[in-house]
Amino acid sequence: MAIRLYNTLSGKIEDFHPIDAGHVRMYACGPTVYDYGHIGNFRTFIAVDLLYRFLRQSGYDVRYVMNITDVDDKIIRNASRDGVTVQQYTAKYTQAFLEDSATLNISQPILVRATEHIQEMAEFIGELVNKGFAYRTDDGSYYFRIAKFPEYGKLSKKDFAGMTDGARVDVDEYEKDSARDFALWKAPKPDEASWQTPIGPGRPGWHIECSVMSMEELGPSFDLHAGGEDLIFPHHENEIAQSEALSGQQFARYWFHARFLLVEGQKMSKSLGNFFTLRDLVLKGHKPSSIRWLLTQVPYRNQLNFTFDGLNAAASSVEKLRNFRFRLTSSKFAAGSNPAMAKLASETAQRVNGALSDDLNTAEAQGAIFDMLRKTNTALDAGEVRQDDVQALLSTLECFDAIFGVLKDDDQPKMKAVLDWARTAGREDISPQLLEIAGSAQVTDDDVNQKLAAMEAARKTRNFKQSDALRAELTAAGIIVENTKDGVRWRRK
Ligand code: AMP
Ligand code: ZN
Repeated sequence: MAIRLYNTLSGKIEDFHPIDAGHVRMYACGPTVYDYGHIGNFRTFIAVDLLYRFLRQSGYDVRYVMNITDVDDKIIRNASRDGVTVQQYTAKYTQAFLEDSATLNISQPILVRATEHIQEMAEFIGELVNKGFAYRTDDGSYYFRIAKFPEYGKLSKKDFAGMTDGARVDVDEYEKDSARDFALWKAPKPDEASWQTPIGPGRPGWHIECSVMSMEELGPSFDLHAGGEDLIFPHHENEIAQSEALSGQQFARYWFHARFLLVEGQKMSKSLGNFFTLRDLVLKGHKPSSIRWLLTQVPYRNQLNFTFDGLNAAASSVEKLRNFRFRLTSSKFAAGSNPAMAKLASETAQRVNGALSDDLNTAEAQGAIFDMLRKTNTALDAGEVRQDDVQALLSTLECFDAIFGVLKDDDQPKMKAVLDWARTAGREDISPQLLEIAGSAQVTDDDVNQKLAAMEAARKTRNFKQSDALRAELTAAGIIVENTKDGVRWRRK
C-alpha cells in the first residue's frame, strides 16, 4: 500500500512515489540558531522525524538533510549586540538544538550549515544573474526578479499578477501582500558579518541558503521538502523560484508542512512571548517523553493547542504504555497460545500502519495501540494471555514505538542533564518535581535490584523494620516499588 501524503503544491493528498524507487531524498528547513528552540519549533521537527521514521520502516532508504541557519538578520543583530562573532554566537545555540533534539528522541538528519556554503551561494546567485533572474543594485546587494518567474505563487496559491516589477524587499521575513523582488545577497553594513566572494562582499539572504544546500546535498530535483506552515510563504515560494530558475527542473516534488502549535489560539512564537522551550518545561518537572507524545497526538496537518492538562494527560499515556510493556515482559504466563491474542496483535499492527500511511494519522495510530492495550489488559486479568502470544503483542508495540519513540525509560538522566545545565546557567525556576525525579537518576538499576534483594532477605527473616527502611530509601530516591501476584516490580517516578 502506497503511503499517502498531503502535498501543499498540489493541494491534495497523493500517493507518495519517490523519483528513484526505494530511495527517498528529503530536506527539512532546520532551526535558526539565534536562541533556544521552543516546543512549537519542535512540533515541526518531530512531525518530520515521524515521517522519516515511517518512510524507513516502510522499507525506503532515506537521505534526510536538514540545514542549520547560522547566519540571518536576527543572528547578525544579536551577535553584534553582544559584541561576539556570528560563529561564537551560534555555536551555543546549535549545540542546544542538538541536545534538545536528542532529549526529544528526534533522529539526527544529515546537518548542513549555511556559513559553510557561502561561496556556493555566491556562485548560485552569479548564475541567476547570468540567466537574467537576478540583478545587482548600486549598493552591491542582489535581488531575485520575480516578474521573470511566472510560476511565482504556485506553492502559496497567491496571485501576484498585479505587483510592481522591481519593487524590492530586503528583510528575510515578510507578509504575503508585500511580495516583491527579494534579497538574495545583502551588501555589507558596518558591524555586520560579511564574506568576500566573486559577486562581491556581503552575506546571503535566508532563502538562498536552503536552495543551495538542498540542491547540493540532494540534486536539483528531489522528493520531499518539509517545514512549518509559516515557511510556505515567502521562504518556500522563494526557494522554488530560485532553484527552478537556475535548474529548469522541478525542485521538490512533495511539500510537507506541519501546522502550528498554538497557545490559547495563537501561534506559539518568540515574538508573541507565549512560548515554552523544552528546558522550561523540564524545569517544571515534565518529562521529555510526555512532551514528545503530546506533540504527536494531533496529526501534523491540524493545529494543536498546548495546555498543561494536555501535557499531564500525555505523561499518563506514556506511563500506561510503559507499564503495559512491563506487564508483558515481567508476568508469568501459562504455556500455549490464544488465537484471539495473535489476531489482536496482527490487526493492531495493520491498523497502526494503515493510519500512518494515511497522511501520517498519528491520532488514529495511537487509538489503535490503546485499543490493543485495553483488550490485552482485560485478557491478562482473566488469565487469557498465553506464553506464545506475548512476542506478537510486544512486537506490535515495538513497531509502533519505532515511530513514536517514547517507550525507552530514559527520562531521568535526560532531566538530570537539564538540571545540571540550569544550575550552571543560573536558572532560578527549578521545580521540586524536577529535583525529585532527577534525584532518582542517581540510583542505578543495579542499586535498586540490590536493595530489593536485601528487602526480600529482610522480609524472609521477618525483619520488617529493615525491609521498610529499605523501601523508604527507594521511595526517597524516586523509585516506586509494587508488590504484585507475580512478585515485586519497580519503576522510576
Ligand atoms: P525557526 O527556527 O524560527 O526558523 O523555525 C524552525 C521551524 O519551526 C520552522 O519549520 C518553523 O516553521 C517551525 N515553527 C515555528 N513556530 C512554530 C509553531 N508555533 N508550531 C509549529 N512549528 C513552528
Ligand atoms: Zn529553509
